[in-house]
Amino acid sequence: MFVIELRFEPFADTTISAAEKAINAHLEALRANGQILGREFAVAFNDGEFRVRLMVPEKTSLANRYNSAWVKATLQGLTDAKLLAPRDKFIGQDINSEVSNTDDPSWQVLYTSYVHMCSPLRNGDNLLPIPLYQIPATFNGDHKRVIKWQSEWQACDELQMAAATKAEFAALEEISSVHSDMFRRGWDLRGRIEYLTKIPTYYYLYRVGGESLQAEKSRVCPKCGSADWALETPLLDMFHFRCEPCRIVSNLSWDHQ
Ligand SMILES: [Zn+2]
Repeated sequence: MFVIELRFEPFADTTISAAEKAINAHLEALRANGQILGREFAVAFNDGEFRVRLMVPEKTSLANRYNSAWVKATLQGLTDAKLLAPRDKFIGQDINSEVSNTDDPSWQVLYTSYVHMCSPLRNGDNLLPIPLYQIPATFNGDHKRVIKWQSEWQACDELQMAAATKAEFAALEEISSVHSDMFRRGWDLRGRIEYLTKIPTYYYLYRVGGESLQAEKSRVCPKCGSADWALETPLLDMFHFRCEPCRIVSNLSWDHQ
C-alpha cells in the first residue's frame, strides 16, 4: 500500500463547511469503491487549500478509469463547492502493509482480520489483497457492501481477540459459525464475486477452541457435514480445510496448532 496526499484548492469564494462537505463525500465514495483504505480521514486546511493523507492499494488507485458513478458525482460536487479537481502527490510506500496482488488468481478468498486495512478479497494462490475496484461492482455500482461487511467482521474479531467483555462470545459466534449473520452476508458476497469474476471464490471461516488436536483434525464441514474437506497439506500454511461445494476454507483450531 502507498501513502498519497490529496489537495483541494478553491478556485472561487467558498465556505469551509461547503468545501468540507464536498471533500468528505468524495472520500466516502472513494472508500466505498476500495480506492482508498481506512475509515478516518483528517482533512486539514492550511495555506489556502485542504489536504488529506490517504492510504491507497496501488500507485494508480485514484486513476479515473477506476472511478465509480458515485465517485464521478462527488467530483462534480467538488466543482459545485468551488474546488478544483483534486491533485495528488505521491508520498511513499507504507512500510507496515502488504503489496497488492498483480497475478491472475486461480482461486480467491474473502479473508480479513482486525489488523488488516487492505481489501478482504485475496488471491488464493499467494494471499495478496486484490484491490476491489479491479473487479466489477459487487452491488449498486461499487463495493460498499463488501467494505461494510469487512468493518463488522473486524469489529467482531477485535472483540473476541481482546477477550475482555461478554461480547466476546457473541462476536466469536459471528465469525466462526455458518449460522451467523456475518457468515450469511459474507458468503453471499463471495458468491456474487465468484459470479462476476468467474473465479472460484471461498469464504474464510474462523476456528478456535475444540476438544483436542485429533478431534479438530477430523472436524467435518460445518455446512454440509462432509469429512472430505480436510487437506493433506494446508494451503498457504493457513487453510487446513477447504470444502469445494460449500466454498468454505477454514484453519485448524488456533488452540491446537
Ligand atoms: Zn461443505
